[in-house]
Amino acid sequence: MIEVILYILVFIMGAYFGSFYTLAVYRIPLGIDITRKHSFCPKCDHKLGIIDLFPIFSFIFLKGKCRYCGAKIKPRYCILEVISGLAFVAMAYSLNINIYNLEIDKLVILGFSFLYFAGLFIIAGIDKEKITVQKEVLIYTIIISVLYMLYLYIVQKLTIYRYIIYLIIILLLVIIDTLKIRRKAKESYLLNLLILAIAMSMFTGESVFLLTGIYTLLCCVLYVTLKKISIKNTKYVKKDKDEKVKLPIAFFMVTCNTIMYIFCEYIINYVK
Ligand SMILES: [Zn+2]
Repeated sequence: MIEVILYILVFIMGAYFGSFYTLAVYRIPLGIDITRKHSFCPKCDHKLGIIDLFPIFSFIFLKGKCRYCGAKIKPRYCILEVISGLAFVAMAYSLNINIYNLEIDKLVILGFSFLYFAGLFIIAGIDKEKITVQKEVLIYTIIISVLYMLYLYIVQKLTIYRYIIYLIIILLLVIIDTLKIRRKAKESYLLNLLILAIAMSMFTGESVFLLTGIYTLLCCVLYVTLKKISIKNTKYVKKDKDEKVKLPIAFFMVTCNTIMYIFCEYIINYVK
């Protein structure tokens, strides 16, 4: 019973994080402060009260509408909150968090993974809409990964060498990036994807990252194929031969990384 309460709490926490992602995904590309400014309705600009801000429940009780102007709230937000809650529960479960045998180590790892995946989910959300990896969030993810690395090194006495190699690579990429930006004043999507890949490799380890890479590739191939088929089948839309299929690669990477992380932690903690 107490176990169930623990997982419900984790779910609520995940749902709160979920409502934060939607806010962050909306605000960060527009340059609006994500912490200081009060939540508001994007339609009527009305400040939102406490009643409007309960994840999932607010959506259900307000019947998916803004209390002030009646504007429809996309069900996508509510679905995202549910998914985020479920992802957190899956993470806690895969780490075998046990209330009767609570290990501080596991809780710290869980806390780190919540912070890490929060960053990833925001990156995924922005990438899905804008096909761009947001620099600020990327830097946040790297900082979390480095802090996690320091924790593993200091408390768990794990080797630090592989991390130093990663940090050197990141540093090189950042230097290349700044040089490039200076010349062309345009951000490189590919370079940001590389930095994201290294952050993933640092946090979730090489084997999880390898699986992530393989599945991301599969996702991309599948996505492009499906898009091409659907473009072929729509006769009325003017066909543009030069039009490339826009591929949210970071979005796929994050999805695969999350699933693989949960899957591998589950294998490690349950199947021995
Ligand atoms: Zn409104």
